[in-house]
Amino acid sequence: MRAGDRFVPGPAHREIVFLTGSGISARTGLGTFRGPDGLWALEPETEAAMQASCLPDSLPQLWQVWGRMARIARDHGPTPGHRAIARLGAPVITQNIDGLHQAAGSAVVSELHGSALRAACLGDDCRWTLAVEPGEGPRAEDHGVPGRCPRCGAPTRPDVVLFDEQLPSADLGLAMELAQRADLFVVVGTSGVVFPAAQLAPMAASHGATTVLIDIAPPVGSRTLFDHVLAVDAHEVLPDWERRIHQVGGTSFLDPFPG
Ligand SMILES: [Zn+2]
Repeated sequence: MRAGDRFVPGPAHREIVFLTGSGISARTGLGTFRGPDGLWALEPETEAAMQASCLPDSLPQLWQVWGRMARIARDHGPTPGHRAIARLGAPVITQNIDGLHQAAGSAVVSELHGSALRAACLGDDCRWTLAVEPGEGPRAEDHGVPGRCPRCGAPTRPDVVLFDEQLPSADLGLAMELAQRADLFVVVGTSGVVFPAAQLAPMAASHGATTVLIDIAPPVGSRTLFDHVLAVDAHEVLPDWERRIHQVGGTSFLDPFPG
């Protein structure tokens, strides 16, 4: 751990809310999407297929890409960071589509970008969904999903938000509610300088929360946006927080919505 900001949560922090991005899952082998080594740079044709306007022709690519992501996530399982957040009982807002917070045991998860572990229906206003059994290949059936929605007959798709699609309103609403009720808002594994983190962290701050960014290499400009910027490994500092909080006792985050 590098010297510098030594912030740790205290008794005043009864409502911790996490916002996580791809950095918390990086050690699973789930690459980040942006940046020189990201998926979009390595496979530009894949990035092109991630526009909703390419549907339904892009479905084979979507099943191939998101089925692969789901399989990596399932095979690797949650990281120490995911597990520490789950043991804290804190609600999570995530930009990740890998389902690893739920796999770690987190009960309240707002998935702003959907989930590769879930299939949905292309039909307008059809709310059919199904858990994916990730396999290998470009067809829904390769991932345990019928090619056509059993409810309305439209093609099925991975329930991942594409570039030009709106964020799911229920998850976005939950994220804003969580940001407003947090007294400690912790951003992990995402730069914090782009949407949605760039809106949710200030929203939490305006409702009285202390804001923290945990990033081994904090982006330029982040220090002015957060009360504390910890240039540390989340997989070390989050288990440490969890031990400290449970040692001091008296604070249970297991019921994020009492009453
Ligand atoms: Zn349907």
